[in-house]
Amino acid sequence: MTERISTPSKTKQIIEENGFFFKKNFGQNFLIDSNILENIAHCAGITKEDCVLEIGPGIGSLTQVLAETAREVVAVEIDSSLIPILNQTLNGYDNIEILNQDILKADIDAIIEEKNSGKPIKVVANLPYYITTPIIMDLLEKERHIDTITVMVQKEVAERMQASPKEKEYGALSIAVQYYCDAHLDMIVQPSCFMPRPKVASAVITLQVLPERKVKTKDEALFFHLVKSAFGQRRKTLLNCLFNLGKLNLSKEELTSIIVSLGWDERIRGEALGIEEFAALTDVIYQKLY
Ligand code: SAM
Repeated sequence: MTERISTPSKTKQIIEENGFFFKKNFGQNFLIDSNILENIAHCAGITKEDCVLEIGPGIGSLTQVLAETAREVVAVEIDSSLIPILNQTLNGYDNIEILNQDILKADIDAIIEEKNSGKPIKVVANLPYYITTPIIMDLLEKERHIDTITVMVQKEVAERMQASPKEKEYGALSIAVQYYCDAHLDMIVQPSCFMPRPKVASAVITLQVLPERKVKTKDEALFFHLVKSAFGQRRKTLLNCLFNLGKLNLSKEELTSIIVSLGWDERIRGEALGIEEFAALTDVIYQKLY
């Protein structure tokens, strides 16, 4: 096995030799535990058939493990000061392409088309925590050809992604993720596994993208609009959240009758509703509006 980039001593050496400074605004916390890295590749179920998109390779610790398990890896890194370092640390591998780009601006569809003939790829990343949700939502909402997404995120975010109705962590992110995927919590990772150490614990979660949405609704935009407004003011009842939304132009009486017609108490809160219930609410409101 080639020397691991991820050991604490090797990571320190690479950083010092290159005069690299961690940039907080890019969420740079590098993994320094080789077992965790092997485990991430294992949880992602990567085989030699797979093309993997890695977001934020850093100095290449995870990229190295991915390159040894996958057919090909495309690694997108925003920090240009890391590119010469990556070219050096991953020098021995001929199945890695490094792109110096912001993942939120990268043409992911073109990467999938070029590298995997449009067939679904796997996404694997130790995500920069400051943009976890925008990255995940970009990958899901744009219906890209993606098979699975295995990512390190803050533990609390992983819990939100897989929370069920009435749980403390349940919210708009839980519904958005579970609308497109089956979510599975793979492992909890302690701050001591990173350099520098983050303040909170992290977790690896795998999202298996479903061939079809979890539920069908008459209007997907309205569905997400209702979900966002129901969780926007958590302590308010669903009725008040919908009424305050204004845009619906429905009176309190009309909204109450919609809620009651669905068999719910008129004081119900959004956090009690599952994906199916939000879909049913969407369809009744849609019929009333159009
Ligand atoms: N994969 C490495 C590891 O596990 O050690 C580094 C992970 S570090 C948490 C996040 C990485 O994402 C950093 O290298 C950071 O520069 C990069 N990054 C931050 N924002 C990015 C963006 N918008 N697009 C691409 N990469 C980004």
